[in-house]
Amino acid sequence: MNCYMCKGNLKIKKVNYVVDLDNTIIIIKGVPAKVCEQCGEQYFDDTTAENIEKMVNELRKFSTEITVVNYKKKTA
Ligand SMILES: [Zn+2]
Repeated sequence: MNCYMCKGNLKIKKVNYVVDLDNTIIIIKGVPAKVCEQCGEQYFDDTTAENIEKMVNELRKFSTEITVVNYKKKTA
C-alpha cells in the first residue's frame, strides 16, 4: 500500500490523534497508523478508526478544554 496523495512509502507508526471540537480538544496518544514517509499523511485501518470514533464520542461528553488519553485497543 502506498500513499494516496503522493505515492510515497507508508510506515507503521504510533501517532497522536488530535480531534478539534467546538469547545474541546481531544488528544489520543499512541494510535497505530500508517504514515507516509514523504508527506506525512496518516492512514488508519477500519478497526482503529472505529475505536477512535467510539473513544471520541465517550470523551466529548465530559471533556473540558483539553483531554489527553492513551489509545486503547478494544475488541468488539
Ligand atoms: Zn504521501
